[in-house]
Amino acid sequence: MKTMKAARFYQVGQPLVIEEVLQPQPGPGEVLIRVKACGICGSDLHIVYEGVTPTAFQPIILGHEFSGVVAACGPGVSGWQEGDRAAVNCIVSCGRCRNCRAGREQICLERRLLGIHLNGGLAEFAVVPAENLVALPAGIPFDQGAILTDAVATPYHALTRRGRLVRGETVAVIGCGGLGLHAVQLARVLGAGLVVGLDVSETALDRARARGADRVIRNDQGDPAAALREATGGEGVDLAIECHGRPETIALAVAGLRIGGRAVIVGLGAEPIACLPPTEFVRREIELLGSYAFTTREIAELVELVAGGQLNLAASVSRRISLEEINPGLEGLHKKIGHPIRIVVAF
Ligand SMILES: [Zn+2]
Ligand SMILES: [Zn+2]
Repeated sequence: MKTMKAARFYQVGQPLVIEEVLQPQPGPGEVLIRVKACGICGSDLHIVYEGVTPTAFQPIILGHEFSGVVAACGPGVSGWQEGDRAAVNCIVSCGRCRNCRAGREQICLERRLLGIHLNGGLAEFAVVPAENLVALPAGIPFDQGAILTDAVATPYHALTRRGRLVRGETVAVIGCGGLGLHAVQLARVLGAGLVVGLDVSETALDRARARGADRVIRNDQGDPAAALREATGGEGVDLAIECHGRPETIALAVAGLRIGGRAVIVGLGAEPIACLPPTEFVRREIELLGSYAFTTREIAELVELVAGGQLNLAASVSRRISLEEINPGLEGLHKKIGHPIRIVVAF
């Protein structure tokens, strides 16, 4: 029996344990991936430090943002060969429910996530369904291939599918951390007219400017909704992307919209939403939408944007660490040491 090194989660508040475990075998329709890069995500912090995202079992191999090469194919897999480079969609969907059939597999009624409900990518090998793979051209480094499957695909889904961004429209991004920074960059790439970044941190706003924001606004100072309207000639923006999941920033997203505008919430939070009275909400035909994750097709679209040179993610990988450094890596992200955008475990 072959073994592999893996980082496993046992208990909330405890460091991951790096240990030798049995190497998994691909079943029918599955592929064994030799992991080359796996990003650490805010969701991993929710699992390890806060316990707000329970895993399906313990010990479990975390890691839901990864890329690698095909090491073996299970029975019935076609189109993939040993050595092929691939990015992995972490959402395992059933393919049969009404949402899957409508092409919305990210909200599959039976969805399970690699690294949360199934063993993930913080290991030398991972077994994944073949349909979750997206071919990664040789020109895209594995670390960029890893982060585009979650950190970049999540705001991409919010902007394109949920927000229905049209070229030339004005966009506000509230919260310019990992997700928001990529939302700013993608809005620019997708042809937005004016892009405004809002945050409480000057570091975040500097980064938003570097990724293409035309204007930045501190949303903890003055009247940010008025500043947003002022930036758009008094109208308000067509589309606002909210990345904090907090009632006050959601209210700001709605208040900053033009008549007929759309606000899309990407941030997760526990408190109820309160924004406009229905009289205004209705008369202004405001849309307030939730946006969850992404699809395999959207990951493939992002791969094309990176391969074509329109989207450069080199600056998004703040640090590369080894699997042995996973616990200091999680700690660094948790405490925001050096304001990392993405820390990636490289194999
Ligand atoms: Zn994630
Ligand atoms: Zn389904």
